[in-house]
Amino acid sequence: MLLLKVKELKAMPGRAVPVEGRTEPKHISYLGRELPLKDPIFLKAKAVYQKDGTIELSSVDVRATVIDECSRCLKELTSPITAQYELLEFEPEKSEIPSLEEDAFTYPTGANEIDLLPYMIGLIVSELEVKPLCKPDCKGLCHHCGHDLNEGPCVCPKEDDGDPRLKVLKKLLN
Ligand SMILES: [Zn+2]
Ligand SMILES: [Zn+2]
Repeated sequence: MLLLKVKELKAMPGRAVPVEGRTEPKHISYLGRELPLKDPIFLKAKAVYQKDGTIELSSVDVRATVIDECSRCLKELTSPITAQYELLEFEPEKSEIPSLEEDAFTYPTGANEIDLLPYMIGLIVSELEVKPLCKPDCKGLCHHCGHDLNEGPCVCPKEDDGDPRLKVLKKLLN
């Protein structure tokens, strides 16, 4: 668990307290897929409790290694993610109505601690590629036989020859 100890911070407002820890979810959800993680999620930051209840996290450094697949050839990819922020602010929730702003970090007023994991996952996900590639010029897989075209051409007829079964059909129709 990655817990921000609000109670301890509150006891020394204005003082920067180092926060460091790691936590190990099995995977994270991204665009409807479950991506496994290779290493625990690592977080390093400094936390300051301000008198108005805002908790500032500064020098934020979040690291994770996500296992994904190439969007063209489906080869397994290991993507090291680093998310760094100079300042993140957690504001106490003033009302029961959840904030509509996606970027706003809020925490329940009166909470003794905040579980940072959901926030960290959000930061990691924002760094992920929508269509990851194993290399910029990945040739992908053959649509017919599934051969990995990065390993050389396959034996399928070329695209412009069309489907041989269609050719036979065309001949029959003529
Ligand atoms: Zn690829
Ligand atoms: Zn093929």
